[in-house]
Amino acid sequence: MAKVVIIGGGIIGSSLAWQLAKAGLSNELIVVEPDPSYEYAATPRAVGGIRFVQGLLENLEMSLYGRTVFENFSESLDIKDDTTDLNFRECGYLFLGAAGSGSEFEKNHKMLTGAGADIELLDQAELKNLLPNFDFNDVEISLYSPRDARIDPYSALHGYRRSALELGVQYKKDKVTGINHNKSKIESVNLESGETISVELVVNAANCWAPGICELVGMKIPVMPVRRQTFFFDMQQEIGFCPAIRDYNGLSFRPDSSGFIAGKTAAGGETGFNWNLNHLEFEQELWPLMARRSKAFEAIKYKGGWVGHYDQNLMDGNPILGHWSGGLSNFIVAAGFSGHGLQHAPAVSLGLSELILHGGFRTFDLSLFSYDRVIDNAPISDSGPTP
Ligand SMILES: Cc1cc2nc3c(=O)[nH]c(=O)nc-3n(C[C@H](O)[C@H](O)[C@H](O)COP(=O)(O)OP(=O)(O)OC[C@H]3O[C@@H](n4cnc5c(N)ncnc54)[C@H](O)[C@@H]3O)c2cc1C
Repeated sequence: MAKVVIIGGGIIGSSLAWQLAKAGLSNELIVVEPDPSYEYAATPRAVGGIRFVQGLLENLEMSLYGRTVFENFSESLDIKDDTTDLNFRECGYLFLGAAGSGSEFEKNHKMLTGAGADIELLDQAELKNLLPNFDFNDVEISLYSPRDARIDPYSALHGYRRSALELGVQYKKDKVTGINHNKSKIESVNLESGETISVELVVNAANCWAPGICELVGMKIPVMPVRRQTFFFDMQQEIGFCPAIRDYNGLSFRPDSSGFIAGKTAAGGETGFNWNLNHLEFEQELWPLMARRSKAFEAIKYKGGWVGHYDQNLMDGNPILGHWSGGLSNFIVAAGFSGHGLQHAPAVSLGLSELILHGGFRTFDLSLFSYDRVIDNAPISDSGPTP
């Protein structure tokens, strides 16, 4: 009998496994993960950003905590024989606001700085001063967060996985294909290999595949894969200092290794899995937008790109965390991260471990993200520039 089965061993499942193992549960814990190479998982396909410009206080608090954990990863996870390098870089993020967004940005700035984030509200003149090689004539206002950072997501995932394994957590290379219950509780899960595991608690951390796992027990969550393409290129001319930039038109770009990466982060996007890279998105949409921002982007050397999928919560862009209220009592969902699950993984896993071990959230109050809002059709109001 396994006490806890975690479905999905990405950064959410693996960080939760590590938290629970650290608390002494390792012998009663199984992570089911079909692909130890994580080829199609979201985590290795993420761009690794940890940013403080958030629309919700809860999301800011989780990002602040995530940064602390990732900056001091080996100490945080007590990794003794340390070969883990997250390539942690403080890069800063800059969010650009169109005409008319002044009061929204001011309100957001007040909330973020009131909660302790080091964020500057810059008008157009101040922005031009910060980045003299850019054209910001159409930008009214911006939020600059110099302490934001980026990490290598794949190393973070493997750091958690390795630490969980060292504490005795069992990873099964298998796939959950069925869930057996008696209408009030889950009793066991079926694996593709034909094995059945008796359980006391099941955590669904299967990200884009989480809705399919929910369907196995008749639960509906408003989560869908949303395709995101990331492109990389080399510069041909010097551009000078450049933080990660989120433009109001949906363009996002930042320096990465010796070159740059760019993608589209606007709301919406194609739903469902589609793994084909469409180079035209870069050539016809993103490149012209970048070249408008700075002449230095006019001559670049395009190198390629990759496709990933957000587990997008179509209801409000925020995760669904916790028990299935009104449903099977021992089924926990952790999905719908909508593009911010990497930076929030340390806080989410800590919160969920507290929920499992103590019956409630302690360090962070994550009750806002409960499934109740789906039942009540009451989306979270997330008014920041990046829901
Ligand atoms: C292009 C892109 C850029 C991103 N950038 C950022 C960023 O800058 N900052 C940030 O914070 N977040 C970012 N994200 C979001 C972040 O990557 C995710 O929120 C996070 O990685 C989710 O982790 P996870 O463990 O839930 O999912 P995953 O890493 O997808 O893990 C889920 C696992 O479940 C497994 N699974 C599926 N079906 C089953 C089954 N039936 N049985 C057992 N296991 C199963 C899969 O094999 C997979 O390994 C980005 C995402 C993308 C796609």
